[in-house]
Amino acid sequence: MAEIKELSPELSDQIAAGEVIERPSSVVKELLENAIDAGSSQIKISFVEAGLREIVIEDNGSGIAPNQLDLAFRRHATSKISTKADLFKIRTLGFRGEALASISAVAHVAILTNTGGAAGVSATFADGRKLTQKPAAAKKGTRISVRDLFYNTPARLKYLKSETTETTKIIDIVNRIALSHPELKISLKSEKKDLLLTNGSGDLRQDMAHIYGRIVASQLIEFSGSDADFVITGLMTPPDITRANRNYISILLNGRYIKNFQLSKAIMAGYGSKIGLGKFPIFVLNIKLDPLLVDVNVHPTKQEVRLSKESSLSRLIINTVAKALERNSNSGDALTN
Ligand code: ADP
Ligand code: MG
Repeated sequence: MAEIKELSPELSDQIAAGEVIERPSSVVKELLENAIDAGSSQIKISFVEAGLREIVIEDNGSGIAPNQLDLAFRRHATSKISTKADLFKIRTLGFRGEALASISAVAHVAILTNTGGAAGVSATFADGRKLTQKPAAAKKGTRISVRDLFYNTPARLKYLKSETTETTKIIDIVNRIALSHPELKISLKSEKKDLLLTNGSGDLRQDMAHIYGRIVASQLIEFSGSDADFVITGLMTPPDITRANRNYISILLNGRYIKNFQLSKAIMAGYGSKIGLGKFPIFVLNIKLDPLLVDVNVHPTKQEVRLSKESSLSRLIINTVAKALERNSNSGDALTN
């Protein structure tokens, strides 16, 4: 065996970056979440060549002060939590302090940001290190450009799917995050076309119309339910509007898009035999709960979470969905009779 050595910060950064930044859509997700955490009301995202050549995201949030920039790009440095207790009541999308460090370890990053003062600051980063920093004119908010993703990790580049697939993944994550924040104006563009533009009205149905079309949106059934621990609300298609896979089900937990097989099973159980085998609804489920009931710190990407009381939440979902469908079919009868 060779001698044991501590890895250089550059190498350990690159290893850690691989967990958070798997593909271009991971960059988009992390930067979009940062923009939301910064209190932005308007966020513009654009990308070139499935995000591999460039991803740009511009927000009108809090900005970063010049003397905080180095920290913002340092691993495990965050403004979002500070004590152990904070870890059990996470209200922000981020808290691990890993995204900017990870992205700058595997891409060329340029940032222009201003906290609202007279002058902003611009800086560039690569290989996890700052290359330049200087004062710069800027509006309040932050603009980050990520170029040449995975230029220094060829294996990762090879593992990526086709440009079409990677583009689809970007569109998918932006759609879901837009659905979890209808109060935000979010736009997404590729070099080829406009892919999403939400108006920030706060109306979930309008956002669903942008994403799934006006006809689907007009048919959506509103539902709400609660028990001692959870409040659930959202919109769902009636059983005759379905898709061939689960990808149209979005589960949002305190404003965070998550993946949870148990909860999507509960949704399907609520439809019961009304929906055919292998068919799935278009569904947005908003769950509000005390942050104490959920552990977000399970996986670096934070899309998997551990929920206590998952089975009582499942029951609430099944009952609420079943009731909403019953109400809807009764109101349909009333119209035809
Ligand atoms: P985390 O989001 O987990 O805190 P990040 O690496 O994503 O970690 O960001 C580090 C810090 O940089 C954040 O805690 C925040 O203070 C700051 N930051 C990042 N993006 C923005 C942004 N768009 N606007 C304002 N501040 C930002
Ligand atoms: Mg973050």
